[in-house]
Amino acid sequence: MEPADYKALVCDDDPAMQRLLSRWLQKAGIPTRAVSDGQEALEAIELECPDFIITDWEMPRIDGLELCRQVREMVLPHYVYILFLTVKNARAEMISGLEIGADDFLTKPVSEGELLARLRSGSRVLTLERRLSLMAHTDSLTGLLTHRSFYEAVAKEWHRSRRLSLPMSCVMMDIDFFKQINDLYGHPAGDSVLKSVSEVFLDTCRASDTVCRYGGEEFCFLLPETNENDAAILAERMRVRLASLHIPFGTPLLRITGSFGVAQARDDMSNSESLVDLADQALLCAKRAGRDRVIRYSSLVDAVEPLDCVAERHDGIFQGVVARDVMSPLIAPLYEDETIDHAARFLLMHGIPSTPILSSTGELAGFLSEKDLMAAMAAPDCWQRPVRSVMRPNVISYREDTPIRIIYDFLARVSVRRVVIMREGRPSGTISREALLRWTRNQILRPGGSAPSVAEFVGAGGTTNTASAPVLHNPDIAPATPSAE
Ligand code: GH3
Ligand code: MG
Ligand code: MG
Ligand code: MG
Repeated sequence: MEPADYKALVCDDDPAMQRLLSRWLQKAGIPTRAVSDGQEALEAIELECPDFIITDWEMPRIDGLELCRQVREMVLPHYVYILFLTVKNARAEMISGLEIGADDFLTKPVSEGELLARLRSGSRVLTLERRLSLMAHTDSLTGLLTHRSFYEAVAKEWHRSRRLSLPMSCVMMDIDFFKQINDLYGHPAGDSVLKSVSEVFLDTCRASDTVCRYGGEEFCFLLPETNENDAAILAERMRVRLASLHIPFGTPLLRITGSFGVAQARDDMSNSESLVDLADQALLCAKRAGRDRVIRYSSLVDAVEPLDCVAERHDGIFQGVVARDVMSPLIAPLYEDETIDHAARFLLMHGIPSTPILSSTGELAGFLSEKDLMAAMAAPDCWQRPVRSVMRPNVISYREDTPIRIIYDFLARVSVRRVVIMREGRPSGTISREALLRWTRNQILRPGGSAPSVAEFVGAGGTTNTASAPVLHNPDIAPATPSAE
């Protein structure tokens, strides 16, 4: 690249010098802005980062040396080549300038030829730097940002949207059955698919969106100023475009589908990783629900209907086991219009840390834990308020015949700690991480290792004080005292 491919910022308190330099640079085709001191330069850099800074040494407010020091401390989108322009040519000053981050010096009076020659030399450095940076930050196959640079790129946007209370969403996408493409048509065919898919994404997204290749055949998008609904609309548009894509690679033309998970940043999130994590949880559910679809995270936590999932192939220890076999059955119903006082007695009497809450017609209305009660109980009037006012309406539920592998995958990956199990549209039990862990250990330690009966595990989710006391194989894995949710 030539100097003309870069932008320059001239910084000098002498208006005649500013004009002269700007004229020379513009004549050489270099887009140039000019400012009068270091303070103005810093403001101009914030607005648009130049490639070259040509700065005077002595200036009011912030001088050239201090400007250089501050620029080197700034997080900028690319390297800035700093050229000092000064009457000073004393060796000690040159050294301090270089040490603070200057790249080159020009002694006044400057000639047009020397200035341009030095910029040509600087542009060789910049070109090399840009090439290395591109290699380090983008994926060579698709040209998209890599996983690591994605987080670097979104950090600034994340803070801006938090500061201004703007919505922000994330979409995670994974190509369905991609391994089969490699297996059937070879790795180059797979690569061709990855390239075509990336082109669709770049074409569908806005310039302000950040798109990255998150892993092998997984892609991640950060969408500023976008709520979950609009992000889901965009994801659906991408899904439709992918499904209709005919990728030319020999015959037949390759066809693919993709699964998408969408989530919106929440007020209590402290970083973009947490947002990506939610989108990833939704993506997992999109896979489990049969692929080629968009699932929103909010639809998971607001789900009243059980997730409709399909079984996977290698289930190992979980082979043939369904939710019904592992769940802790519902001991007794607790209704949403009962009082908090009643709910507290209910949990204490049954020795359980949490329970599903039913509507008056017996449908799943929400979930209540000790933690929810603790949040309410400090208020003097709380005890007579209905459970409805403190329960969490967001419940994740699965049908009793859901393969346990699906629930295991879900609980292993998400922040939710238990799910409700449904029979004919009504809650019939729960499965917590703890119950699943205990069930799995029992399974492994058990001689012969066949699936244990329900009776062995009814206490696993915290029903230890009920009549159906657990029959455990191994005394060292007796149910712990139910812990707080
Ligand atoms: P699922 O629908 O569950 O996502 O199934 P899948 O086959 O897409 O997922 P799986 O994780 O089993 O396989 C992903 C494959 O992607 C395996 C890996 O070899 C392939 N892969 C990863 N990176 C590249 C790449 O750069 N080029 C090619 N051709 N294949 C890749
Ligand atoms: Mg000066
Ligand atoms: Mg895949
Ligand atoms: Mg994958």
